[in-house]
Amino acid sequence: MKIAILSGKGGTGKTTVSTNLAWVLSKITSVQLLDADVEEPNDHIFFDISFDHEESVDLLLPVVNNETCIRCGECSKNCQFGAISVFNSGTIVFENLCHGCGVCKMVCPVNAITEKSKSIGKVMLGTISKNLKFGMGILNIGEPSGVRIIRQLKKHIDNKAEVVIIDSQPGTSCPVVETLRNVDFAILVTEPTTFGLHDLSLAIELVKEMNIPSGIIINRDNSKTNIIDKFAEKENIPILMKIPFKKQIAKIYSEGNLFSKFLPEFQEKFLSVYKIIKGLIE
Ligand code: SF4
Ligand code: SF4
Repeated sequence: MKIAILSGKGGTGKTTVSTNLAWVLSKITSVQLLDADVEEPNDHIFFDISFDHEESVDLLLPVVNNETCIRCGECSKNCQFGAISVFNSGTIVFENLCHGCGVCKMVCPVNAITEKSKSIGKVMLGTISKNLKFGMGILNIGEPSGVRIIRQLKKHIDNKAEVVIIDSQPGTSCPVVETLRNVDFAILVTEPTTFGLHDLSLAIELVKEMNIPSGIIINRDNSKTNIIDKFAEKENIPILMKIPFKKQIAKIYSEGNLFSKFLPEFQEKFLSVYKIIKGLIE
């Protein structure tokens, strides 16, 4: 079972849910936790991981031979990212905007474009415990898109693991779509605020469009407002769990620990989340 953990915006508790859920489930079954929040991966902070594999993720960047180039403009016209421009003096590639899609090379009528390899980040794999494997992608600073890193990270999905938990980037952009591809379920982590609700509604639109069943976890629940409950009811999406707004939980998190280790009643709650998801999928 592949479960993606999403949130409409950063800082809502996606990491808390991913790491605690993975750790709790690894007590009863085999789990792989993948941190696909490649711009800012931080799941590894909560574990003692023995890394045993590292690979570079490379992009093929176009290189223009301006002696051969006839300045026809086809490359620039067909580049979706504004990463190549044609001037009288020559054709220039803006490497920081280039996504390495290869379209410019394909459309060039005189084969003036070749390609060179450039590393944009890496994928690392390791082991936390017998039942808990780990993987993470890291995008180099300044690179425009982590989609390729996520794609490469997902190639390492362990099909022998009973549960694969993929911690997504926040938001609803291309890296999130890539993370959601081929998952069985999405957990949407939110907080009970107007901003939380707004971002949650965008995330729900995305999972619905991709036809992925989903459920909500409310983080920092203060029992003072039920805006998320009302919305979930209207959208017919189950609330899987509520994590209360407690100083003790925030303190445990800030010290780089898993709160379910220290507050065992939450282990039961995370197990219930898993059971509900299983029921919904089946
Ligand atoms: S490889 Fe793709 S993104 Fe890069 S310059 Fe060519 S068309 Fe644009
Ligand atoms: S498509 Fe080829 S020939 Fe035309 S401007 Fe681009 S690099 Fe030059």
